[in-house]
Amino acid sequence: MPIADKLFKINEFIYAATEKSGRERGAVKLVAVSKTKSATDIATAFKSGQRLFGENYIQEIIQKLKTVEEPVQWHFIGHLQSNKVKYIAGKVSLIHSVDRISLVEEIDRQWGKLGEQCDILIQVNISAEASKSGTTRDGALKLIREASLFPNVKVKGLMTMPPFFDNPELARPYFAELKRLSDIIANEQIEGVQMRELSMGMSGDFEVAIEEGSTLVRIGKAIFGER
Ligand SMILES: *Cc1c(COP(=O)(O)O)cnc(C)c1O
Repeated sequence: MPIADKLFKINEFIYAATEKSGRERGAVKLVAVSKTKSATDIATAFKSGQRLFGENYIQEIIQKLKTVEEPVQWHFIGHLQSNKVKYIAGKVSLIHSVDRISLVEEIDRQWGKLGEQCDILIQVNISAEASKSGTTRDGALKLIREASLFPNVKVKGLMTMPPFFDNPELARPYFAELKRLSDIIANEQIEGVQMRELSMGMSGDFEVAIEEGSTLVRIGKAIFGER
């Protein structure tokens, strides 16, 4: 199926799940995950109306910042080394994968040089799998308190990646847990922190994630095909 048709279908599924969760159309945004895919694929998705794209790898996003001519909006969603932050400063509108204060510090420094602020999400390793990045469940609140003191960084919410399951229902408890954690942190009313976004849900489980409160779904394969 062409990218345009897959995008159309995904948007319909997103809308249906959004309605089912009692929210307005537009409450859930689609981040088209274009990692390993070409600038041409991105242009095709852009022509079908997709504006927001997510990338995982610094080398790849550096290339795409040069080769993609369409005025797309970029999110960085992958593991980020502090010494690479400078390459994306001012060029991405949200970083989903912030999991340590040293990274917050560097984001603050690089965006500060530009006189701009960077929106970030805190990645939480809800499942506590050793192979996954992210703060611990308990570490999230502490990290957000610390991050809130940096003037050029704005915490906007949380992100998680549950373990992979063939049955998306099995991911539901992890999504519910991230939402619960987000509500707990929101209740703390930390100055400058808005717990507005929940980045959760991928190709195989985004409908369940939306039912549990996701506001940003990160979908690659279901739009662009296998990698
Ligand atoms: C690759 C990736 C996705 C997209 O996964 P798909 O299964 O292709 O939809 C989402 N989030 C992160 C962090 C990823 O690395």
